[in-house]
Amino acid sequence: MIKILIVEDEHPISDLIRMNLEDAGYHCTCAFDGLEAADMIEEQTFDLVLLDIMLPHINGYELLDYIKPLQIPAIFLTAKSDLKDRVGGLISGAEDYIIKPFEITELLARIQVVLRRFHKSEKVLAFHDLIIDLDKRTVHKNGALADLTPKEFDLLVYFVRNKDIVLDRSKIYESVWETEYDGNTRTLELHIQRLRKKTGLEKHLKTLYKSGYCLDSKE
Ligand code: CA
Repeated sequence: MIKILIVEDEHPISDLIRMNLEDAGYHCTCAFDGLEAADMIEEQTFDLVLLDIMLPHINGYELLDYIKPLQIPAIFLTAKSDLKDRVGGLISGAEDYIIKPFEITELLARIQVVLRRFHKSEKVLAFHDLIIDLDKRTVHKNGALADLTPKEFDLLVYFVRNKDIVLDRSKIYESVWETEYDGNTRTLELHIQRLRKKTGLEKHLKTLYKSGYCLDSKE
């Protein structure tokens, strides 16, 4: 399991990130100030650190200097005001940064990009009776191989990585097809219907009137 350290002193933000990351299948640990984070990094291993900038005791920039030699990638979580005058050199030490408030789907996408860059991404995803092998690009349902087209596979991976989040059509389309969404829903609908049938996700993969789709893990 991928282990992520969340360093954020505002508890509601930290809780929100942790809940969503755990839902996405990551193991999370939270530190609420810079010193606590440094202690945890010393004692445990992490695959990625999400790092707030304004923190008690040791700030995010100082903590990054401590993390960098350990080859742990960091993503800054920053308020717009923290960025003033600091964008250049200081931010460049992190793998990426995201400005608060942000969409959880965007944070998840950035985490995946950074983990992939560091070859730390997960090789296998699971959802109920489905096992998805990301290297072999295969899906097994109750041990039997499901016959998905490449786009159906990409769509399934996208849904599983963003499960329990309402995803609008344009976002899904642009992430999976990697081209601009022109408002034509047919391609997406057809793929989703086929995917539901082939994977037995009829109940889980929900169409939400006007808002899009959601892969519901609680059904
Ligand atoms: Ca803060």
